[in-house]
Amino acid sequence: MQHNAIRTIVIVGGGTAGWMAAAPLAQRLGKRCEIVLVESPEIGTIGVGEATLPTIRFYNNALQLDNADFMKKTQATFKLGIDFQDWGHLGNRFFHGFGDFGPPINGLSPHHHWLHLARAFDKMPALENWSVASRMACENKFTMPANTQPGVTDAFSFGFQFDAGLYAAYLRDYATARGATRIEGMIVGVDQHPETGFVTGLRLRDGRTVEGDLFIDCSGFRGLLIEDTLKAGYEDWSEHLPCNSALAVPCARVEPVTPYTRSTAKGSGWLWRIPLQHRTGNGHVYSNAFTTDEQARRDLLDGLDGAALDEPRQLRFVTGRRKKSWVKNVVAVGLSAGFVEPLESTSISLIETAVGKLIELWPDRDFRPELAAEFNRVMGSRYESVRDFIILHYKLTKRDDTPFWRYCANMKIPDSLAHQIELFRTTGRITILDRDGFAEPSFIAMLMGLGVVPERYDPFADDVDMRQLHGHFAGLRDLIAQTVAKMPGHRAYLERNAKA
Ligand code: FAD
Repeated sequence: MQHNAIRTIVIVGGGTAGWMAAAPLAQRLGKRCEIVLVESPEIGTIGVGEATLPTIRFYNNALQLDNADFMKKTQATFKLGIDFQDWGHLGNRFFHGFGDFGPPINGLSPHHHWLHLARAFDKMPALENWSVASRMACENKFTMPANTQPGVTDAFSFGFQFDAGLYAAYLRDYATARGATRIEGMIVGVDQHPETGFVTGLRLRDGRTVEGDLFIDCSGFRGLLIEDTLKAGYEDWSEHLPCNSALAVPCARVEPVTPYTRSTAKGSGWLWRIPLQHRTGNGHVYSNAFTTDEQARRDLLDGLDGAALDEPRQLRFVTGRRKKSWVKNVVAVGLSAGFVEPLESTSISLIETAVGKLIELWPDRDFRPELAAEFNRVMGSRYESVRDFIILHYKLTKRDDTPFWRYCANMKIPDSLAHQIELFRTTGRITILDRDGFAEPSFIAMLMGLGVVPERYDPFADDVDMRQLHGHFAGLRDLIAQTVAKMPGHRAYLERNAKA
């Protein structure tokens, strides 16, 4: 061990972020570092955050979790993407599936060839027909990707939908079994080094002090260390992402248990529906500048598929991100680092990135500022690319039925997003600004789903013979339909492989 290696890691908070930080640190450092997590049951956790992106599988795999065991203990279902309803206009429906729209043809993304064909054939079916994930979702099917040879059964990906509380508990058991210690207590004070300002310890209400070298702030929206103590500052994005409120309520499970999340646009926001094995999670995300909490509550309860199992719980937030999420010896992870909003379920994936980056840039007790600068650079651009992708959902609406949607359609957007939209609108090209973020097919699904039809396609698409191209698309579509028809139903697959 280096003479100035980190000896004690203190994690503030036992929500999803806290335990997602604790688990891989315990796996790697549990034998040579003291890892302490402090949480206050009195404050509790936010208790939402149940839908994920496919990247969660890399995180789980790195911990060598048993997939079936993890799914059983967290009441998990599979997620192939998101079904969007009423977003582009009332009656608009499309699916953002995980995976692509078929293999490249002559080195070009298939959407260019689809655009080429759509010019020539009036009745060209929607591009979504070539997304395996979309077809599976449409028929409530699920099976694992074959991962053998390139083919239809490989051309999709998936994430999970799980009970957030059970997932945190699952990781807590994992982390504590590998040496992490949990302390229950309310933090009422923070000690700092008088000269450097580094955090040296946390004072608990019962008089105890928890000292450490590195502090990971997973204290939720408040940002107990990163903001209250170190004043990192917050960049407010509510001008572009106006939703600031949510109501969450579970309801009884109804059949079918869909392998996807549903997002339905409402007058001043949108509803989520996340099916788990034992219940369905629901919520209404909205702006209280455009509707009342009472109206939002009625919209939520009216939209439930099953009987409500509780009273709706009110949450408030300000969309944006911490200007710096690593300051001195404090690294903010989770809601303390920022919150874009729940659409597209990106928060847990940002936690995965933050924890992965922290391990990649692991400091010693010198805390070289270059490490913090690199962490802040990477996380800053990850948050901004997620921000742009989410704003796109609102900005491209053609809805003008309420003041909220008129605001969204007319609001100013970041230059980076304006560039992306115009590039696609005029030439069909996608520019990927963040290699760890949403990939080309996701942008295509959203842009075309919301009604943006590019004026041109890549000129090299003209090199492919039109009749051959038509045959290729028709054949692939049939193959996808036949393959999906033979797959087991989502519920049957869960019963057989991951029943809670
Ligand atoms: P929290 O869960 O708030 O945990 C904070 C912890 O800090 C708690 O343990 C608390 O006790 C502790 N704490 C705070 N102050 C003190 C103190 N003084 N002393 C001791 N302990 C303290 N993300 C997704 O990926 N997918 C989704 O579908 C999704 N949906 C969402 C829907 C909504 C409406 C919202 C608001 C968020 C959603 N998120 C989603 C985000 C997701 O919920 C969070 O990223 C995730 O739960 C992590 O939260 P956290 O651990 O940072 O904070």
